[in-house]
Amino acid sequence: MKRDKLTQYLREDRWPTVWCPGCGNGIILKSFIDAYDQSGLNPDQTAVVSGIGCSSRSTGYLDFNTMHTLHGRAIAFATGVALTRPDFKVVVMGGDGDITAIGGNHFIHACRRNINLTIIIYNNMIYGMTGGQHSPTTPGGKVAGTMPFGNVEEQFDVVKLALSAGATYVARSTVYHYALTVKYIKEALLHKGTAVVEVMSNCHTYYGRYNGLREPWQMMDFFKENTIMKEKAEKMTEDELKGKIVVGVFRKDDLKQDFYTRYRLTYSKGE
Ligand code: SF4
Repeated sequence: MKRDKLTQYLREDRWPTVWCPGCGNGIILKSFIDAYDQSGLNPDQTAVVSGIGCSSRSTGYLDFNTMHTLHGRAIAFATGVALTRPDFKVVVMGGDGDITAIGGNHFIHACRRNINLTIIIYNNMIYGMTGGQHSPTTPGGKVAGTMPFGNVEEQFDVVKLALSAGATYVARSTVYHYALTVKYIKEALLHKGTAVVEVMSNCHTYYGRYNGLREPWQMMDFFKENTIMKEKAEKMTEDELKGKIVVGVFRKDDLKQDFYTRYRLTYSKGE
């Protein structure tokens, strides 16, 4: 018998988690559970798929139909589930490295095709599990294990990437903004088509330690002090927005058909 709302969605025998104390992954996982509980979806018809990385361990802790797959390949596996079981809600969980680097191609093509997936990106701006290497979302100038004098690369803006690739629901939040995160994940779960929620998260163990934010609360403070709502950001200049995190819903298109619906309508005419 499960104890309460939180534990009914968890495999308690898998706890404690492998995550460092204070890691944002736990906040995102709890946001997902709250959002899922409010969504009215059926856990028996829900699949959660992940690749490799700290955040990808989420599938081990969640008591749904789960798949913990290969590095960068979560979206490929999830696409297979979504197309063979259109009655399922299919969720992908992964980090910035897993989804925008190794799995970057799968990500842009899922968005382009509008596959019916809810993709939750835990963006901690670094590779955590593999030891603090820079990822495509590490900001320029910030230190990582592979950029000890500062990152010389430009960072991906995950929201812009998802928008330009064609995702039909796109939102961003941070682990500091819990209520917003729950709201956006719930909207994404109820959306039909590719829904992307980027949640800025803290890896204080690597990103924070390398960049003067060693304690979890320092990174939470950073998110609190540097986040701007989209509506306010639209009235600000590019210079004023430098180093800021803009949160909000950037697209919500309920009219565009998802891939499966379009495919069935086109190819089942002779049946
Ligand atoms: Fe979290 Fe970073 Fe620790 Fe991984 S290494 S569990 S991302 S704090």
